[in-house]
Amino acid sequence: MRLTILGTAAPYPRPDNPCSGYLVQQGDTSIWVDAGTGTLAELQRHVAVRDLDAIWISHAHADHTADLLTAYYALRFAGPPRARPLPLIGPPGLVERMVGFLGHRSAAVMDEVFEVTEMRGWHDAVVGKLSLSWGPLDHGMPAFGLRVQAADSVLAYSGDSAYCEGLVELAEGADLLLCEAGASQHPPTGAVHCTPEDAALLASTAGAKHLLLTHCEAPDARDRALAGFPSVELAVPGMTREF
Ligand SMILES: [Zn+2]
Ligand SMILES: [Zn+2]
Repeated sequence: MRLTILGTAAPYPRPDNPCSGYLVQQGDTSIWVDAGTGTLAELQRHVAVRDLDAIWISHAHADHTADLLTAYYALRFAGPPRARPLPLIGPPGLVERMVGFLGHRSAAVMDEVFEVTEMRGWHDAVVGKLSLSWGPLDHGMPAFGLRVQAADSVLAYSGDSAYCEGLVELAEGADLLLCEAGASQHPPTGAVHCTPEDAALLASTAGAKHLLLTHCEAPDARDRALAGFPSVELAVPGMTREF
């Protein structure tokens, strides 16, 4: 399996760093995971939008979805149409939000562009050579994490979430755990992100082999996570890992 980091910035893009977005590939299968602001352009360094096999969206926050709007334009108005709509797996209500931006006439043709699956609870799906599992997490809104299984490797992705049992289940034994560290410190109540220490605890508890931190708030996130888990890297745009 190959993971390419398209962007990691939170909660808004920076020069040379889009918001959250990742490309997961196995052979000729390509899945765009989270469509954060700026990631559509970076995606095209690796694969054309129309050649994707699926898009998977963790939750509806704009830093994970904004580029779906222009992906719609790419698929609907540019170049030859796909033979079939592009599978789009996302949280409930995602299409209604998109139609709100794109205009009401887009509602009538949305199913020609995207074949939408709304995530509700735990579920599995097969996309080309990759098996996906997802489950609900804790982010103060409907939010999901992802587990991707290839023939001989497993990737787990936290989306945005506070530390929770669902994360542990998704990350169990993963070869690579891509985990957000969107909080530097826990708020007094109602955490919705992991801290670097949470990410390290998750990697350790789940028995993951390697932790890739993303969407970090703290500049010293890697050092902080290394205090609790031995194999930690910081995700940066353009980084590719094969495992
Ligand atoms: Zn979020
Ligand atoms: Zn986010």
